[in-house]
Amino acid sequence: MDKLNRRRFLKYSGGNISLMALAGKRLEASEPMKSINHRQAANPSTVDVAVIGAGAFGGWAALYLREMGLSVALIDAYGPGNARAASGGETRQIRAGYGEREIYTRWVIEAFKRWEARQEEWGGLPLFYRTGQLSLYREGGSRSFRATQTVLTKLGVENEVIEHDEVARQYPQFNLDGIDFGYYLPSTGVLMARRGCFAVAEDFQRKGGEFILAKAKPGRQAGRQLQEITLSTGQTISAENFVFACGPWLPKVLPNPMKDRLVTPRRSTFWYGVPPDDNRFTHPNCPNFSMAGVYGFPSIEGRGLKFATVYDSIPFDPDTDERLVTENEVGRAREFLDKWFPALRGQPLLESRVCQYETSVDDNFIVDHHPDMENVWIVGGGSGHGYKHGIMLGDYVARRVTGQATDPELDATFKLKAETF
Ligand SMILES: Cc1cc2nc3c(=O)[nH]c(=O)nc-3n(C[C@H](O)[C@H](O)[C@H](O)COP(=O)(O)OP(=O)(O)OC[C@H]3O[C@@H](n4cnc5c(N)ncnc54)[C@H](O)[C@@H]3O)c2cc1C
Repeated sequence: MDKLNRRRFLKYSGGNISLMALAGKRLEASEPMKSINHRQAANPSTVDVAVIGAGAFGGWAALYLREMGLSVALIDAYGPGNARAASGGETRQIRAGYGEREIYTRWVIEAFKRWEARQEEWGGLPLFYRTGQLSLYREGGSRSFRATQTVLTKLGVENEVIEHDEVARQYPQFNLDGIDFGYYLPSTGVLMARRGCFAVAEDFQRKGGEFILAKAKPGRQAGRQLQEITLSTGQTISAENFVFACGPWLPKVLPNPMKDRLVTPRRSTFWYGVPPDDNRFTHPNCPNFSMAGVYGFPSIEGRGLKFATVYDSIPFDPDTDERLVTENEVGRAREFLDKWFPALRGQPLLESRVCQYETSVDDNFIVDHHPDMENVWIVGGGSGHGYKHGIMLGDYVARRVTGQATDPELDATFKLKAETF
């Protein structure tokens, strides 16, 4: 097996070399890690588990499996957190508010702690900024707001309704015309997305996991067992279990059963300049925000005020489609900026990105056996909210694959549903 050495790994994965080299230096200082069993595969083309896809879901699953002492190969066609991947953006939100979907809130409460612990373990590399989030509402709010309020209060997550005048006093950078109140969640934050994928894959390698840069496809099958996968490098890898965590690629890699069970909508994100003499839009002076169906983040690490839109929700091919925002989208993003952030009128658009995620029929994640191959696990369906949960889902997947007990409510929620689009 072609284990990438550190230099090649950095080169291929397209990460920020100086930052990761720095991180690597700090991490090497704490080696050797004695807390895990460093069992290496006797024959590197035969492993206990092959994980296909090094995004938020596959990367974390591979790391947890390796930390359990299994021999694991992690394979990605373009590299961890690559530019085409759903996990490949600069930043992703971590929020506890999930409306009525309490199981995700419960996971996030634990995820907050785990992200902080991993950041600490990996030498303080910034992966998680605790920004807080302010949502702006008209009188009565929305149904989802009311459900969130009930669930967060029940689970003891700090949340606060702030009256209009107090919002105006605390957050003068927002235009509050037509707004009656704000809802503030201090626990919410921002995760550094592609940096996180890279850090996970690095730790996986450091702990003895094998990362391979290659495109994989299912190979020989015997009865209800997949025997091996074949790689674009010409290699084959056999394993006891296979985890296909290919995100928006799942319908291509496993057309049976994933065709029509996921859609891959196009999404665009925008970063606008903030004035050098006005720090009200920069973390920690500005929280994450959400209003009029759009959410965004303060300027973090000098990137500019970011927001994500759902304009032009059309199917997107993650391999071949070009990632250019349209003039229409730029116009509508500018309208949003001018309306809600009057002090940023005239600031330049610094950056824009087009990406895609994959949505399942019920917006729930999918973790289930392949219907025809018992040792194949299908992991995906991030549905636009998966990144923050990778740190929990990876653990859950590792437990399922190794036959450990898991919460039946989660098992039912993540079951591959019969419905199709
Ligand atoms: C614009 C946008 C905003 C979002 N906002 C948030 C947010 O604020 N908070 C949040 O929690 N989530 C958010 N999400 C969702 C979140 O990013 C995704 O749910 C999550 O990153 C999905 O991770 P994944 O590992 O399933 O998929 P991916 O990250 O896409 O990873 C799949 C990997 O599989 C690899 N692969 C595919 N096919 C093969 C093959 N044949 N062989 C080898 N490798 C292969 C790919 O190269 C890729 O790296 C957002 C997504 C987008 C696009």
